[in-house]
Amino acid sequence: MADVDAEALRRSLADVRTRLAAAAVRSGRDPSQVTLVAVSKTHPPEAVRAVHAAGQRVFGENYGQELRDKAAALADLGDLEWHFIGPLQRNKVRYAVGTAAMVQSVDSIDLMDELHRRAAARGTDLACLVEVNIAGEQTKSGVPPDEVAALLHAFAARPRLRCLGLMTMPPVVDDPEESRPRFRALRALRDALAASPRPGVELRHLSMGMTQDFEVAIEEGATIVRVGTAIFGAR
Ligand SMILES: *Cc1c(COP(=O)(O)O)cnc(C)c1O
Repeated sequence: MADVDAEALRRSLADVRTRLAAAAVRSGRDPSQVTLVAVSKTHPPEAVRAVHAAGQRVFGENYGQELRDKAAALADLGDLEWHFIGPLQRNKVRYAVGTAAMVQSVDSIDLMDELHRRAAARGTDLACLVEVNIAGEQTKSGVPPDEVAALLHAFAARPRLRCLGLMTMPPVVDDPEESRPRFRALRALRDALAASPRPGVELRHLSMGMTQDFEVAIEEGATIVRVGTAIFGAR
């Protein structure tokens, strides 16, 4: 597509990577311990191709059919990895399983059942994160903190699914510092839950932080950040 400015995308990716690395070093960690998910929703496959050419390998999508179509258009990029990060309805699960390496937005037993059914039918395993509504807002997706343990428990009976950590998406804020207590709360929840080992669950990842607050998230222990606008521009 003619309106994809590959050079601008390369520069914005480099800028995000520089900021990511600085935040990791500030928090005493190696930048390689933080995975950058480039959130490409609503942007065309050509933009993903340009960002991939600039060295990015993990991309995040929010919508089932969009993931399916983009993955098909970019099937020649064998090392590109998709993460599904949006609310996932049961009837869209088929677009994610077999395409996404990880589903970050697991928020109900019903969804786990459908993911497990589809993964088992394909003979594949699926990495998952449980999405937590850490800010306690009515409108946001994710499970309340006091219901996370029950979801983690359910992985034992669904052996095709592996839970690798927790994800959260805090509300829009003006000041990234407003997100800090929420990120801290997700980490504390993870630490508390990790004290009880559960089959199929290994809470090594905290997926938190987006364009508005990814540096604060890294300072608070994020191992995965999901950045769209700062790389691809406004949607
Ligand atoms: C869109 C989205 C992002 C990226 O948001 P930006 O503000 O564009 O960085 C991250 N996580 C989720 C779950 C999203 O839906």
